[in-house]
Amino acid sequence: MSQPRTAVSRPVIAIAGLGIESSTFSPARTAAPAFHPQRGDEVLGRYPFLAPGQPLREAAEWHGALVGKALPGGTVTAGAFAELADDLIERLTATPRLDGLWFDIHGAMTVEGLDDAESVLLGWIREAVGPDVIVSTSMDLHGNVSRELVHRSDLITCYRMAPHEDHMETKERAARNLVRLLATGAPRPVKAWVPVPVLLAGEQTSTRLEPAKSVYAAVDEVEVAEGVVDAAIWVGYAWADEPRNRAAVVVTGPSEPAVTAGAERLARGFWDARREFAFVAPTGSLDECLDDALAAPATARPYFISDSGDNPTAGGAGDVTWGLHRVLARPEFTSPDGPTVIYASVPGPAAVDAAVRAGVGATVTVTAGAEVDDRHAGPVTLTGVVHAVKHGDRDAGTEVVIRVGGVHAILTRLRKPYHHEHDFTDLDLDPRAADLVIVKIGYLEPELFDMAAGWKLALTPGGVDQDLLRLGHHRIRRPMFPFDADMPDPDLTARVVPPSNEPLTGRDE
Ligand SMILES: [Zn+2]
Repeated sequence: MSQPRTAVSRPVIAIAGLGIESSTFSPARTAAPAFHPQRGDEVLGRYPFLAPGQPLREAAEWHGALVGKALPGGTVTAGAFAELADDLIERLTATPRLDGLWFDIHGAMTVEGLDDAESVLLGWIREAVGPDVIVSTSMDLHGNVSRELVHRSDLITCYRMAPHEDHMETKERAARNLVRLLATGAPRPVKAWVPVPVLLAGEQTSTRLEPAKSVYAAVDEVEVAEGVVDAAIWVGYAWADEPRNRAAVVVTGPSEPAVTAGAERLARGFWDARREFAFVAPTGSLDECLDDALAAPATARPYFISDSGDNPTAGGAGDVTWGLHRVLARPEFTSPDGPTVIYASVPGPAAVDAAVRAGVGATVTVTAGAEVDDRHAGPVTLTGVVHAVKHGDRDAGTEVVIRVGGVHAILTRLRKPYHHEHDFTDLDLDPRAADLVIVKIGYLEPELFDMAAGWKLALTPGGVDQDLLRLGHHRIRRPMFPFDADMPDPDLTARVVPPSNEPLTGRDE
C-alpha cells in the first residue's frame, strides 16, 4: 500500500496538457501551431473557476505550464509533439516545488510513430517531476484510457455528457479532487479500471438519448457511494487504430471494495447496452438520402443530409469531394429549374481566388478539393455563376458560392464547419427556403436541427467514416464489438491498477 502522506495546507499545483481528437484514417497532419499553446498565467485564464477570488484559486498556488487544444484533425507530427512536450516539461521543471499536477487532456491524440501519446507524455512528465507529485487527469469521454495512463495518474475522470455541456464542470471536479487529496494528505486513491471491448461512433452515443442516457446516469449513483471519490465512463475514439481504442471505466476512491463494485457495475451497464446504441438520425448511402430528399413532400423541406464521413469537427480533412461529385452527377439538381440545393463545403484556395477575381454574377470554371484527402475522389470542377463572396471568416478566410443549376456549392480557402444559420445567410443563401441542405457534419448542431424539417445521416467516405466496419482497423484489440458482433462475454472484472509510485507489473489486457 501507499505510504501515508502529509497534508499540504496550500499546495503548489501545475496545469499542463495537450488536447486533440486526431483521425489516423485521414491523410491530414497536425502541426504545433494548431494547438494554440498557452503558457504561464495565460493558462489560468482558460478556467473560470480559477479566476482570482474563486475558492479553488485561493486553495492552492497554481502554475500554468503549457496547455494546448487543437481542432479535431489528422495525426500530430512527431516534430510537433516533441516540440510541445519539451516546452511543457521545461516549464514544469522550472517550478521550484510541485505537490500536484492537473493533466488536462482530451485523450484521442495520435502521434506519428507513437502509441498512447498522452500516457507517454505523462510518463515523461513523471520522470521530470518525480514520483511524489499527485496527478489528476481530466479527459473527454471520447478519449482512450490505457492501463498505463491510469497507472501514471492518481485521479482520472472524464465528461459525463455528449454533447459536452459539462466540460468545465468536469475540469473543475478534477482540480477540486486534487486540491482535496493534497490538503487532507489522504493516501493515493485506489483505481479500479475495466476496459470494455466496444468501439462506437460518437453519433451513436449521445447521452441525450437512450441507451447512453441510462448508462451514464449510473455514474452519479456510483460516485455518491461511500468510499468513492470519482467515477467515469469513456466511449473511446473510433477513428484511430491503436490497441488502446475502446471503451473503458475507471472508479477511484479510498475503498477498494467500493471502487471495484462501482467500476464493474458501470462496465456491465455499458456492455449490456451495446446492441442498443443507434445513430441519432436515420442513415443511408448518399444516393439513398438524395432520393429520399427528392421524394420528400414540401412539409419535409428544408431536408438536411449530413455528409458525415468528412466532418471536420470530428477529424475529417474537410476537402473530400466525393459528396459534391455525387450531387453534381445528378442532372435533376444541375438543371436550371432544379430544386434549390446548398452544399457546405469544399476547400479550394485557387478556386476561391478565381471566383473572387471574376466577381459576383460572373460565370467561372473552377477546380477545388482533394488536396489533402484524395482517396475517394479527385478534385471537383464546376462551371457556374459566382453567387456570393465573403472575406474575413475566422476559419475559412474567404468563402464563395458557385451556383450550378439549382446547386449552390460553398467553396472556402480553409476548411470550415457550417453550424449556424448565419453561416449561410452571410453568403446570401436562405437555408430555410432551400429544398435540400447538405452539410459535412455528424449530428446537426442545434440551429440546424431546429430548422430541419427532414434529416438523414449519409454514411459517406472520409477520415471519420461512420461505417466503422469498412474503415480498416488493423491494430485494435479483438474481439471487439461491433467488429466481432457475436463475441462471447468479456472479462468485466475490475483491475486494480497500482499506485503511481509503485511499479506496474503484468500486462495491459
Ligand atoms: Zn468528445
